[in-house]
Amino acid sequence: MQNPFIFAMKNLTTAAKLLKLKPKFVAALKKPEHIWNVEIPVVRDNKKTETFHGYRVQYSGARGPYKGGIRFHPATDLNEVKALAFWMAVKCATVGIPYGGAKGGITVDPKQLSHGELERLTRAYTRALYDYIGPEKDIPAPDVNTNPHMMAWMMDEFSKIRGCNVPGVVTGKPLEIGGSQGREEATGRGGFYVLEELAKKLKLNPKKTRVIVQGFGNVGYHFARFAYKAGYQIIGLSDSQGGILSLDGTSMDPENVMASKLKRGRIHGCYCIGSVCDCVHFTQVTNEELLTTPCDVLVPAALENQLTKQNAKQVKARVVLELANGPTTPDADIIFKRKKIILVPDVLANAGGVTVSYFEWVQNLQNFYWTAAEVDARLKPIMVRAFNEVWEMAAKKKTTLRMGAYCVAIERIARAMELRGMV
Ligand code: GLU
Repeated sequence: MQNPFIFAMKNLTTAAKLLKLKPKFVAALKKPEHIWNVEIPVVRDNKKTETFHGYRVQYSGARGPYKGGIRFHPATDLNEVKALAFWMAVKCATVGIPYGGAKGGITVDPKQLSHGELERLTRAYTRALYDYIGPEKDIPAPDVNTNPHMMAWMMDEFSKIRGCNVPGVVTGKPLEIGGSQGREEATGRGGFYVLEELAKKLKLNPKKTRVIVQGFGNVGYHFARFAYKAGYQIIGLSDSQGGILSLDGTSMDPENVMASKLKRGRIHGCYCIGSVCDCVHFTQVTNEELLTTPCDVLVPAALENQLTKQNAKQVKARVVLELANGPTTPDADIIFKRKKIILVPDVLANAGGVTVSYFEWVQNLQNFYWTAAEVDARLKPIMVRAFNEVWEMAAKKKTTLRMGAYCVAIERIARAMELRGMV
């Protein structure tokens, strides 16, 4: 895989130039504050011990405790986790929530482990990081291939060592043990609010706006559901096994597609065995074909480096709304700019997830819980305000929305560093 950390640093350098940021800030922001590498021995069901490798990168703590998810993926490596941790710092600053940025990961294919092995791995990872995480230090959350159940194990393991209940150590927990209403669908919902703001600027009519979503996990599925309900035309969907297109242009109902996908059941109650391709009413396409099909809004909601210099020229969308982290490389950004494709960056478009994580943590610290309506009433203004601040910054600096977001965020992070005397 291309190194996403190099891409992240390229974007930092461009934003720093636009902001005329002093070199000492750039030098400090090019290095994570802490990198924790952990060896995690797990007794497999055959009684043999296997050691997995895990990471936690605490990138910047200038604006508050470190915050960011944990991913379980066979391709996860230190460069990926460093990039994701940096993007968390930028994301939290873009939407103005009081956190720094962090990310964690374990190099593992969780579908190859039994339920018990997965639990032992998650608990051992939590023990290995015990000294470095906590509600006032660093608060993990779900990311690719991790879910509320794993957050429950992390919370339980941490609480056992601490000797008391500590729900605020992780977010994205099940509701019954201190999770927040609305957290599950928050990233998709936040992305939808951003789309609605953009639609106002571009005068898009949902009924005439064709949307293609790559990725049908927690993020892509809920986003597609909100967009479909608002009348947008969902003409393409995909997951890691392939994609489907509606050739006659009728909008796909994501709930129906999910129902077909779920028919073959799930591993560990979370990883689907089936695919969107099980929905036989539509035409099957490869992921690559899906990304280059003509549409109005293309929504990458899967992994990094999906839109690259190899395929960006073939993208025929008016807007790219990034719900994955880092789906577009800097080369593809340049091609989109040239083609006048408007790109709404990840650090803004997918920030609804961490924003509701922030609400969950606040509720945990107060032991006072909000209704779904209260969560939503607080999420929307944050997304709307952030969108408009980014839009105005991009206009002021005559730059892209990605650079607009980076300028908003890096300015806030640098100011916090300066005030605290960190540089
Ligand atoms: N993994 C999500 C993200 O990339 C959420 C992180 C969080 O809630 O801390 O934004």
